Amino acid sequence: HAKRDGHGGYRLFEPAMHADVLARLELRTDLQRAIDAGELELHYQPVVRLVDGATTGFEALMRWRHPERGLISPADFIPIAEETGLIVPMGRWALLEATSHLRALGSLYRMNVNLSAKQLQDPELVYDVRAAIEGIDPRRLTLELTESIVMEDTGHAVAQLTALKALGVRLALDDFGTGYSSLGYLSRLPVDVLKLDRTFLACDEPNLIAAVVGLGQALALDVVAEGIEEEEQWRTLRELGCHYGQGFLFSKPLSAADSLAAVH
Ligand code: C2E
Ligand code: MG
Ligand code: MG
Ligand code: MG
Repeated sequence: HAKRDGHGGYRLFEPAMHADVLARLELRTDLQRAIDAGELELHYQPVVRLVDGATTGFEALMRWRHPERGLISPADFIPIAEETGLIVPMGRWALLEATSHLRALGSLYRMNVNLSAKQLQDPELVYDVRAAIEGIDPRRLTLELTESIVMEDTGHAVAQLTALKALGVRLALDDFGTGYSSLGYLSRLPVDVLKLDRTFLACDEPNLIAAVVGLGQALALDVVAEGIEEEEQWRTLRELGCHYGQGFLFSKPLSAADSLAAVH
């Protein structure tokens, strides 16, 4: 990102940006090592049914327990993992780890796993998913994709989604509302679940929230609201008929052990 230097020209680098580039390079080398060292973890955020607040499943969210930096959040390493292609083995690991945890949670629960664009391009993805759900009702696994994933490489992405659907797993469109997909396009995607980005709740516009919940309902999708932090938001969504929700009001993402304790 070039910045104006105030003299009518542009400077490509600033000292702070340079430090940032170095930090990213360091993280990149570190990340490769981290995978082999087993430093990645999954935390699990409850997904609740809004009518009664019961936990119906969990979303697996990746964390990196770095020996010096402590717990690193995905925003700080997923982009690097995507640039380097490391997201493919990381995502495969997450899929196996999350489905193994799903077995431990028991047959009453569902599991959601996030997929990145690079994984959708991986020809082995469908085999990996099939192996991961061995012995599990496939409908208990939901794969979350963002709009940009699907927009990037339309033909191939849709073919992969169709192959995944044929396994019986469910697909969710994540962060809905932050991208720019056309509504016509949305109706042609083989998705089962619409996850409304938390910016919808944060904007505090009841009519807008009602409109997007209604959109999901009109397309016969399960609607999940992300980022529910207040009782009032829960009540509004419940009254609108939004089916499910996630947010700090119910629970932050939990360690594997805590998520088991929460349901048993
Ligand atoms: P996401 O899939 O949209 O996940 C929801 C994010 O919202 C999580 O952040 C979660 O901790 C956060 N969140 C949940 N409830 C609330 C709330 O009430 N308030 C606020 N402010 N935030 C809330 P997290 O864990 O930092 O993950 C960020 C993003 O990183 C995820 O967004 C997802 O896009 C990506 N990510 C996480 N794990 C994976 C993974 O295994 N694979 C891939 N490809 N991406 C992942
Ligand atoms: Mg997600
Ligand atoms: Mg999301
Ligand atoms: Mg989001």
